[in-house]
Amino acid sequence: MTDASRPRSVDFHCHLDLYPDHERAVAQRERECIFTLAVTTTPRAWPRNHELAKDTRHVRAALGLHPQLIADHAHELSLWKELLPRTRYVGEVGLDAGPRFYKSLDKQKSVFEEILKACATERDKILSIHSVRATKAVLDMIESNLPPKRGRVVLHWFTGTPSEARRAIDMGCYFSINASMLTSEKRVQLVRSLPADRVLTETDGPFTEQVDRPERPSNVDVVVAGLAKIYGKSSSEVMHGIENNLKALLSDD
Ligand code: MN
Repeated sequence: MTDASRPRSVDFHCHLDLYPDHERAVAQRERECIFTLAVTTTPRAWPRNHELAKDTRHVRAALGLHPQLIADHAHELSLWKELLPRTRYVGEVGLDAGPRFYKSLDKQKSVFEEILKACATERDKILSIHSVRATKAVLDMIESNLPPKRGRVVLHWFTGTPSEARRAIDMGCYFSINASMLTSEKRVQLVRSLPADRVLTETDGPFTEQVDRPERPSNVDVVVAGLAKIYGKSSSEVMHGIENNLKALLSDD
């Protein structure tokens, strides 16, 4: 990255199109030099996200089909496939086996499998993956369908066990950490166990917003400060490390 394109911070999973003013949210990220992966929940939302992001230095639009929407939106997989050649970034995709979405889990799995296979065929995609109550199934499916040389995986809001974390690390996965992942000692322990060179930051805004300020994109600095405490480093050292991790993730080799 040249100096001009160097971000001040990284938000590797954010729903900019769900803020009250999408266009303003993109402009704000660009102005504040926050590298932002703008994930989408359906492929129909991608073209507008891409339109707003394509001429920015810091915002990228990812092509998604959210597992929580599969019950009613599985038919959008064909549009998702049609758009895939136009982007390197994929998300939000994955599995959600929580009580509200369990009923569609079989359908979610067949869609996610097709998504992983399509990414493997096209190569060089970077995926932001949701894995609520389904870490093992998500890792199994990545292992079977997307070899590490065919694509790069970032596990968003990881909530798996320590042994699942080790497995994901061995598979080459990155982890995007948000503020909710630092709210209990158990969660902090898990984050501490992740190799520092596989860690990115995210907000998952607007879902993690403070309720009194829904219009303002969440602050990724809170996560950086939390990581600084965990690592016993300064925030600027942590930020520098995360920038390097982003650079490595996005590199061509
Ligand atoms: Mn999300």
